[in-house]
Amino acid sequence: MSKDVVRQSEAAVCRSGDTPRQRIRCGASTTDVLLSLFCLVIFPLLTFFEDELRPWMISRKTAAGLFDRQSSSPSLIRTDIPQAPWKFVVLHHSGTESGSVQTIHAQHIRRRDSAGNPWKGIGYHFVIGNGSGMRDGALEATFRWKQQLQGAHAGNALYNARGIGICLIGNFEKTAPTTAQLATLQNLLIQLCSRFHVNSDDIVGHSAVRRTACPGRLFPLQQLRRFVSSSLPASTAP
Ligand SMILES: [Zn+2]
Repeated sequence: MSKDVVRQSEAAVCRSGDTPRQRIRCGASTTDVLLSLFCLVIFPLLTFFEDELRPWMISRKTAAGLFDRQSSSPSLIRTDIPQAPWKFVVLHHSGTESGSVQTIHAQHIRRRDSAGNPWKGIGYHFVIGNGSGMRDGALEATFRWKQQLQGAHAGNALYNARGIGICLIGNFEKTAPTTAQLATLQNLLIQLCSRFHVNSDDIVGHSAVRRTACPGRLFPLQQLRRFVSSSLPASTAP
């Protein structure tokens, strides 16, 4: 007879008149039954209702959504061609209340560089909308990013060649970026800085490389740098 069968038969004959030794055996069997009850009935029920029982936690569905978003975001910074050796991130505002990749592209394609050559189109690599012209917080990569071309945004040869140009729609001399814009920018900066080993000190405002008010006095550059440096490993060296 196996041990389990012995325990079952002991549980079946447990009575009030049992000896202490029998009661100990009976107790062990009761524990087994309770454990089985917990494993087979209570635990699955807890798991099933966990979203309702623990409202302070995000639900599985929400968590799955976050992971989906996180796993889909990197595809935006991936390109089909080898990635250029980016070293800086240069941040801009559009200086306008509304705008989109298309409206900026339409303006920039009419410009010429210092040698008189026409621009290929929008000078930035990424644009983040503010709800006017593009959805608030929406991120769009331009042809310069997709083809890993150098930018035309910095007014500085080194920062055009090695700097990823990101433009947020808005005039941050007058109003601050929206919460959604900053959330998108933070996410993008984390991805870019970790992928290309960009140091948080090398995230610069346009005004650091050329005489301009861009990206505006209300742009929270220092907070963004602190966020990036606290979110990434201490050393970003390759
Ligand atoms: Zn600028």
